[in-house]
Amino acid sequence: QAKVQGRRKVHFFDADLDEQVRTHHNQRTELRDALLAGQLCLFYQPKANLRQGRIVGMEALLRWRHPERGLVGPQEFLPAVEHTDLIADIGEWVLRAALEQMQQWCAAGRTWVVGVNIAARHFQRPDFVQRLRALLAEYPSVPPQLLELEILESSALHDVTHVRTIMQECQALGIRFALDDFGTGYSSMSYLKRLPADVLKIDQSFVRNMLVDRDDLHLVSAVIGLARAFNRSVIAEGVETVEHGALLIRMGCDLAQGYGIARPMPADTVLGWADAFVPAPEWGTASLLGPL
Ligand code: C2E
Ligand code: MG
Ligand code: MG
Ligand code: MG
Repeated sequence: QAKVQGRRKVHFFDADLDEQVRTHHNQRTELRDALLAGQLCLFYQPKANLRQGRIVGMEALLRWRHPERGLVGPQEFLPAVEHTDLIADIGEWVLRAALEQMQQWCAAGRTWVVGVNIAARHFQRPDFVQRLRALLAEYPSVPPQLLELEILESSALHDVTHVRTIMQECQALGIRFALDDFGTGYSSMSYLKRLPADVLKIDQSFVRNMLVDRDDLHLVSAVIGLARAFNRSVIAEGVETVEHGALLIRMGCDLAQGYGIARPMPADTVLGWADAFVPAPEWGTASLLGPL
């Protein structure tokens, strides 16, 4: 009896797996076509210095303008390709599109740091640095210091020595690195010592909940302290309200990104939005409130 049940379970499991493999296969084919057809685009989400009340950067976030499904977010299509070579092709497209945009912004006098998310598989390709160098050379008017590659803390864990070498080679070109979703990996502390990341991005789940969950508040505070101890910059993601921002300033984290500042927006609306940006009065006065 048990054996029959066991076999039945295996059968169901296989069917699910089979289904998933087929879906992913179809998604990959569709996505490859989408890339060629120019259906991918970048949205940009502002990064602000809350204490100074000004915009200091943008993060490029991938979107798929799907002919039937409308605007599709990266969580819905990147998982199907992140362990295939297609992720590197997409990543190269993203890098080029971001540099193209930076060139325009620089020409308009907006010297914003632009964050670009890079998948582990793309980043660890043997020719990554060489191709990045060639790409940067195509955009001589963009200072490499304005390009910030965001890599997941978790993706750096597999082979720290290798990742560290690639990071150093890229930094020699002038570009910067951020460890994204920081705090969600298992070994933040020990790896931080070995990885020359310029910026820690505090994961949005901690920031979002810090007003209602003391553990999350302590975690956010600890990452800010860690950044200070290791002499790195720190930015908070998931700043959804004015209160989040005010509290962060009081904790010593001036840089922030989140719906409370702006949602990701199409590239052609960014300059207009930035011109109209007015910081919340609470941010400017937060520094006067003194330490917590
Ligand atoms: P991420 O790099 O951590 O980006 C932040 C995500 O959180 C974005 O979702 C953004 O829209 C969302 N977000 C920003 N502020 C808030 C907030 O205040 N509240 C909430 N609830 N969410 C907020 P998005 O655009 O869906 O991107 C999801 C993830 O997909 C990114 O996480 C990144 O890991 C990945 N991704 C995005 N674009 C690319 C890309 O071009 N290449 C690669 N390899 N990955 C990408
Ligand atoms: Mg990111
Ligand atoms: Mg993140
Ligand atoms: Mg994320």
